[in-house]
Amino acid sequence: MTILDKFKPLQAAYETVRAAGKDPFSVRFDEVLSPSEAVMNGRRTILLGTNNYLGLTFDRAAIEAAADAVRRAGTGTTGSRIANGTYGGHADLERRLADFYGCSSAMVFSTGYQANLGILSTVAGRGDHILIDADSHASIYDGCRLGQAEVIRFRHNDPDDLARRLRRLKDTPGNRLIVVEGIYSMLGDTAPLAEIAEVKREWGAHLLVDEAHSLGVLGDHGRGLVEEAGIEDDVDFIVGTFSKSLGAVGGFCVSNLPDFDILRIACRPYMFTASLPPAVIASVIRSLGRVEEEPGLRRKLQDNASRLYHTLKDAGFQLGPRTSPIVSIRMPSITVAITFWNALLDAGVYLNLALPPATPDNASLLRSSVSAAHSPAQLDAAAEAIIRIGRSLDVIPETRCLEMA
Ligand code: PMP
Repeated sequence: MTILDKFKPLQAAYETVRAAGKDPFSVRFDEVLSPSEAVMNGRRTILLGTNNYLGLTFDRAAIEAAADAVRRAGTGTTGSRIANGTYGGHADLERRLADFYGCSSAMVFSTGYQANLGILSTVAGRGDHILIDADSHASIYDGCRLGQAEVIRFRHNDPDDLARRLRRLKDTPGNRLIVVEGIYSMLGDTAPLAEIAEVKREWGAHLLVDEAHSLGVLGDHGRGLVEEAGIEDDVDFIVGTFSKSLGAVGGFCVSNLPDFDILRIACRPYMFTASLPPAVIASVIRSLGRVEEEPGLRRKLQDNASRLYHTLKDAGFQLGPRTSPIVSIRMPSITVAITFWNALLDAGVYLNLALPPATPDNASLLRSSVSAAHSPAQLDAAAEAIIRIGRSLDVIPETRCLEMA
């Protein structure tokens, strides 16, 4: 007996996945050639599973800014902001984020995961209630577990269910915090934010929106679903990440609440971990600038997303409910999903294998994330491979003709 024996069932499930071919959970890039292409297993491969929505990982000016920051300020900060000090870059980035969102305050965290962990566990305390969408990301669930508030799940994207649950709390004291995401990471669907904001107002709750997948992607200015839905005055906290559209690593929360900055000496996942290195901060500032200055990048992304989504939909695949940079294909079973994923990698297309229990409705999914950096030819080549393998595995019928959007 060892302390790890409890993982034997998980080990067995993992072995089954590995036995079918390559290990989808330890994929290795031999060389990353660009935001949309890498060498994997010795083969040039189209990257269709990276969350690199705007393709900014190779932005020349971001690379130069990062390299310059390393030379000027070193490779790391070697400590946390409260114990070891704030670098100028941290404060600059927080000002930039606050200005970008038109908010009074911003806090930068070392990852988006920690931003959710920190904000949720700290702003809602004992006697408060957090109401989370059932399909929330793991970081939202974990943030709830770290704190002391009561946690209530409401049905995915169902404002009526949310309202029902708030009504039941009518005579219970304490604050309520509603938590939803802009774009949901597995199926690419969006929250019905206007209706949720209405429920929030009716019941005097607070609202947090995690825009991890929607920053730089949705809204005329790239400010996410909150901007697209026109509810900027209703949202109390926006959480986001630098690890997707901004092409780096890190997370943040912005808010207009007057006492927000007290969290800097109350929020443990902010206080007790090292702050982001100067190079990361410098590249994020540059990438945020591109989001602000280049709406064309967002349009390119939407065109690309629509191209892949409609091509696959027309071929007969079951996809998420709306065109979005996250295009997820439902598989009939876990086994087919694993076989399909392996065949695609052999064909030079890398996307994400998403299996239960990490998926909504325990679906088996092949999840792709489209980038503004994809060329139409890359998307068409990927779609062609997906359709060919889909037919050979009987996921879609043979008969429909392949039409590009
Ligand atoms: N929130 C959501 C909705 C996410 O999808 C993710 C990352 N997949 C995170 C938060 C965490 O972001 P990070 O990678 O910066 O930790």
